Amino acid sequence: MKWQGRRQSSNVSDRRGSGGVRRGASVGGAGLIIMLLISLIFGGPEAALETLGTVTQQSQQQTEYIESPEDEARAEFVSVVLADTEDVWNGIFSDYGYDYEEPTLVMYHDYVTSACGGASSEVGPFYCPADKTVYIDLDFFEELETKFGASGDFAMAYVISHEVGHHVQNLLGVMEQMQEIRAKVSQTEYNKYSVRLELQADYLAGVWAKGVADKGYLEIGDIDEAINAAEAVGDDAIQKAARGYVVPDSFTHGTSEQRSYWFAKGFETGNLDSWDTFNTNEGF
Ligand SMILES: [Zn+2]
Repeated sequence: MKWQGRRQSSNVSDRRGSGGVRRGASVGGAGLIIMLLISLIFGGPEAALETLGTVTQQSQQQTEYIESPEDEARAEFVSVVLADTEDVWNGIFSDYGYDYEEPTLVMYHDYVTSACGGASSEVGPFYCPADKTVYIDLDFFEELETKFGASGDFAMAYVISHEVGHHVQNLLGVMEQMQEIRAKVSQTEYNKYSVRLELQADYLAGVWAKGVADKGYLEIGDIDEAINAAEAVGDDAIQKAARGYVVPDSFTHGTSEQRSYWFAKGFETGNLDSWDTFNTNEGF
């Protein structure tokens, strides 16, 4: 992706310097579960439950943060991608007669607190609907390549735009509907909705990629990188790697095939017309 020297978003909150303060987190009680709708690129609501909770202790181990050249480039890249999501989504929302409220993006290292609770890097990039903010540990760039085998800058661009996709869902009322559903159905049933929610975010990431392509910022191989990343974070791929077998009932994000399918569909369409992953059998 052509990103160097381009406009950076002013909605970035840089908290990398506070990463030296590590807080002990414990899983909270049932009352805390309300904001579980945090959506991760991998893992799932259950994973969020395990990793997010009340901050109980605070140990002050402030270490001085020194930005490496690599980290600086990643920070700039993330800021440019966020700016691109603003341009694309402002345009699409206005096409449909809506106002786009731009999200905040927090970049951090190791540990972060959000309105959805505290999270350590293991959670992966996530979106918190309560504070309309995307959280990204910049070290995830490396993890994406080493742990998931998804290399290339556009793999990371896909991850960011997927999280911004959750923000778009939040603005358009999808998150609220999910919360209502969660209160009514069993976990297995809810997982099916979760898959559709995640595939919709993948579709929205594809829509964004189309916007970037139209502006002439794509390079050869970018879309392949995104599709490869979407496949790499499929539930089946992750479960197979972790346990050697898959449990479809526990899927929360969709299979590799579904994820890349919906990303590609969003890229083809470039708008919200075919975004309804909830009322379709396509790709299921
Ligand atoms: Zn997600």
